[in-house]
Amino acid sequence: MPFILSLDEGTTSARAALYDEQGRCAGMESSPVQCHYPRPGWVEQDALQIWAAQMEAARRLLEKTGARPAEIRGAGITNQRETVVVWERATGRPVAPAIVWQCRRTADFCAELAASPYAARISARTGLVIDAYFSASKLRWILDHVPEARAKARDGELLFGNVDTWLIWKLTGGVAHVTDPSNASRTMLMNLETGGWDDELLGVFDVPRVMLPRIEPSSAVVGACRAEHLGAEIPIAGIAGDQQAALVGQACFQHGRSKNTYGTGCFALMHTGERLPVSRNRLLATRAASTDQRSQFAVEGSVFIAGATIQWLRDQLGLIRSAAESEAVAASVPDTGGVYFVPAFVGLGAPHWDSTARGVLSGLTRASGRAQIVRAALEAIAYQTRELVEAMQADAGEQLRELRVDGGAAANDFLMQFQADVLGCPVVRPADIETTALGAAYLAGLATGFWRDAAEIESFWRVERVFEPRLEPARREELFEGWRAAVARCRS
Ligand code: ADP
Repeated sequence: MPFILSLDEGTTSARAALYDEQGRCAGMESSPVQCHYPRPGWVEQDALQIWAAQMEAARRLLEKTGARPAEIRGAGITNQRETVVVWERATGRPVAPAIVWQCRRTADFCAELAASPYAARISARTGLVIDAYFSASKLRWILDHVPEARAKARDGELLFGNVDTWLIWKLTGGVAHVTDPSNASRTMLMNLETGGWDDELLGVFDVPRVMLPRIEPSSAVVGACRAEHLGAEIPIAGIAGDQQAALVGQACFQHGRSKNTYGTGCFALMHTGERLPVSRNRLLATRAASTDQRSQFAVEGSVFIAGATIQWLRDQLGLIRSAAESEAVAASVPDTGGVYFVPAFVGLGAPHWDSTARGVLSGLTRASGRAQIVRAALEAIAYQTRELVEAMQADAGEQLRELRVDGGAAANDFLMQFQADVLGCPVVRPADIETTALGAAYLAGLATGFWRDAAEIESFWRVERVFEPRLEPARREELFEGWRAAVARCRS
């Protein structure tokens, strides 16, 4: 049976999955990726360990499913975005640990840049808010701190890549040094409108152009995985950053279609078609992973701490034994009794972008107990999502008709129902919530003719459950007002 292979390299694990002609998952394997925290606020990974984990997952997948490598018609790559790898062209040796998207080491540089005359131009050109989150300041840091790195980069001896680029370079034995617009748009070095590297931005971050990958379409054959890796030569035919891949996996191809992923953080994206979005509400404008050759765009809002709050309740407070238990505990009380929990552990992301905010638990009384606090933590995920959705609606000038959901915490029925209640719009959970891996497979399958077109892919998308809003509008607004007041308390 023919398959498409998806390689899904995330922050905490590298996964590999196979999909058949009906878009059904025939197996998925994962292998952990280690994070290192050498100083407060610093987050690093070893690019060679990322590569080894990705290969381990793929090889185990082939073993367990018994799929023959020669039956794999194409491979799609999706990845943790913004993370920076710099390596030697001649040897493939990384010159420094990979700097992970979460790493805050360049926060001071970014604060200075944000206060400089360049700031407005950079944001207008890239669609991004100036922040250490994006690749450019991290790449600059490596070029500034690794001896002779900038001179070597100028001489063409060093290469830069996000994790997609790094993996493809390894898979192709150093033949293809490429990325796609969805990843490139997160570097802060790409002109969002033209889709090309921007000389002025390269100047601001002092990055030599020769070290950058070629930007290829998200759905196109860009090289071949060498037979020595997986047992057969496989065309590499799809690339997308994880959130844009999830947008494809959710069959959100048209203007206005939106998805929210509930993982460690929350990432909400709304497709804006071929129109370049300009956010007036502090969201990011970004490239969508186009299923054809046309440029497509999306607006994105990210919440840094979402499902991570539930981990915190489990590991730091010991209020629950497992993340799944939070559902029954929250549902055991009719409401939080006025308790709000704002998990601003690392500040607040969109639309506040306040790195000085810190977490707050408010409205406590003698009646507040474990159930109220657990419930407030889950409700916080929904309130933060509503803030993103409100900003998106204001940008788009129209109301959301439904929100498609995925990610680990989307399995929580209480959370999904509360989300529908607090948004006042239906929340739709698909049968396959591994939408990131699925999206990368779709991109590769379209480029290799495994699937015909976006319409065929849309026909694979199946609803598992729809959560309809049930709350009175007046009560909804009253609850959300309480959230706004709690957020105001956590900001300095
Ligand atoms: P990531 O890809 O960011 O690592 P996942 O999509 O695997 O995350 O989701 C894991 C996150 O979701 C964890 O933070 C976990 O606490 C949370 N989570 C998982 N299951 C549930 C659940 N049933 N209820 C609430 N949160 C959950």
